[in-house]
Amino acid sequence: MRVDTGTGTGMALHWSCSEILRTPLMRRTAFMVLVLMVLPVAGAPGWSAVRPKHPAKAAVPQASSDSPSKNDSLTKKHRKALKKAERARRHATARKKPGIAVLRVNLPRTRVPLPPPLRGSYASLERQNLRAEEVDGLERIEDEDDLADRIARKVLVPVPASGALAVNGELPENHRYCRPWTARFLSDLSRVHGALFHKPLVVTSAVRPVDYQKQLMETNGNATAAEGEIVSPHVTGATIDIAKQGLTRQEMSWMRARLLALEKAGKIDVEEEFQQACFHITVYKSYLPAEPAGSGKPKRRVPVPPAQMAARGR
Ligand SMILES: [Zn+2]
Repeated sequence: MRVDTGTGTGMALHWSCSEILRTPLMRRTAFMVLVLMVLPVAGAPGWSAVRPKHPAKAAVPQASSDSPSKNDSLTKKHRKALKKAERARRHATARKKPGIAVLRVNLPRTRVPLPPPLRGSYASLERQNLRAEEVDGLERIEDEDDLADRIARKVLVPVPASGALAVNGELPENHRYCRPWTARFLSDLSRVHGALFHKPLVVTSAVRPVDYQKQLMETNGNATAAEGEIVSPHVTGATIDIAKQGLTRQEMSWMRARLLALEKAGKIDVEEEFQQACFHITVYKSYLPAEPAGSGKPKRRVPVPPAQMAARGR
């Protein structure tokens, strides 16, 4: 390379690169010039892009401190890319904060329809007495001795307490008995109820001898008669009470629907009591499935003589 550095003195100085590098001083000067030329390039934006960054950070350009004139120089395409990256950053930040990302939706509360109460009636009480005596052939349990005798002969069986069926602790031990088909009904009902609601049903009353029912009438004016034509069916051992206390709306709904279906099928009679808050349920012998033909000995039904029927107060 040849440079003409005319000085106006009329004297022209001619030099070339090879000539500059001939002396050590000139070589050092040339090296320094080269270093000074390279350093600004290392500080340029393009240089920093070479360094590895966190992927999320790398995708999002930092706010530029460059002068407006430099931003103006960005191409339209570049500005679009910046906007897109900013949107991605905001989206990623929102996802990290659950309070922002979670949508609160107020769903309409659906209340379980509650079937009407299964109210008792005198007609129902009459039916319970009639069926227990005439259809199922049950006798009234007169007193504690009579009760003990029937328990010993397994005419009465224990209320089938389990994880799904509790018995009120105040109920005397020898009153925690009932007829076998009533026990079967309790097992079935409590098993299904327990599977659905994960808590036990509570039996508050079962068999009541006539003399016990008389005592109950003295202390509880609401108690059904112990003697006469229409009496409390508890004296037969076929009836039990299940507490309503502690049952949720869903449980009440389920109980009413299930008990009503069984009542319509003629398997039980049910009355809801409100003072004692319980389901009073009389279970009939027909609740047990019919035994297949030929199984066991044929059972002879002994007809009750009319004179004996009269003696029972009918
Ligand atoms: Zn009852």
